Amino acid sequence: MIDWTPLAAKLAAQLQIPLHEVRAAPIPGGNINRAFRLEFGAARFFVKLNRIERLSMFVAEEAGLAAIRRSRTIRVPEVYLTGDEGDHACIVMEHIDLAGAPDRDLLARQLAAMHGCFHDRFGFDCDNTIGSTPQINAFTDDWIEFWRQHRLGYQLRLARQNGCDSRLIDSGNRLAENLAPLFDGYRPRPSLLHGDLWSGNQGADDAGNPVIFDPACYFGDHQADLAMMELFGHPGERFFAVYHEHFPIDDGYPLRRDLYNLYHLLNHANLFGGSYAAQSQRLIDHLLAQLH
Ligand code: ADP
Repeated sequence: MIDWTPLAAKLAAQLQIPLHEVRAAPIPGGNINRAFRLEFGAARFFVKLNRIERLSMFVAEEAGLAAIRRSRTIRVPEVYLTGDEGDHACIVMEHIDLAGAPDRDLLARQLAAMHGCFHDRFGFDCDNTIGSTPQINAFTDDWIEFWRQHRLGYQLRLARQNGCDSRLIDSGNRLAENLAPLFDGYRPRPSLLHGDLWSGNQGADDAGNPVIFDPACYFGDHQADLAMMELFGHPGERFFAVYHEHFPIDDGYPLRRDLYNLYHLLNHANLFGGSYAAQSQRLIDHLLAQLH
């Protein structure tokens, strides 16, 4: 049983609002944390809790949400507080009534605008997590090197530690050492990315505006965000057509989509096992067959 009163009192003092009877209800749908709606008076908050050792995960989530918020392109929840609360690490943000899937055209325009916020290097101010796996964001000038080291390489090293099949590791490393042909004639710029943009991290507010949340932000190839949107579903051809009008998508996208999604499939193999290792292997074989 969680005593919500100290947290509510802290929020009331910070936001200078009166503290009334405190109510909390669990919110389903998260993969990693326990989520709640916390209410007192007219104030409503969205709270995520985890073990105290996971505080840095919430600090990084706050940094990502702040970066997207600063871009003024697409709605993200405003964060009020991140810290330890009793035995828990917590992040408290604005509660948004999420009503179904976002309007595809608006989402396409707003994401294209967010991806139009560039940095001079690939990476991010802090490391974060993808699922519960650490995601390294050390700033790097070269995108291929970034992807090799901090995305594919990181997951392949984890897979080895987890005792994955050596064929998967060896062929994955062979691919990681030969990424250049997949980028023939294509030089991505470091775009602000959400980083974990599957359909479960998107919604719409009650005015119909797209809302994205639970990011794993970094500056990278915009196609990596588009790829993730196709991994466990599809935003629809119309989404891509509208997006393309605002941020042109290079013709080599289908090839790189598979490379970018391999990272997430390997992460799923590392986190959940099951058929994800076999799916990763199929993708590695497919990509290796494209090298010339
Ligand atoms: P986790 O970090 O555990 O994956 P999420 O951040 O994805 O958790 O949040 C879990 C669920 O809570 C989401 O699927 C969504 O339905 C809902 N949610 C996320 N952010 C908010 C918010 N600011 N206000 C209201 N509901 C939210």
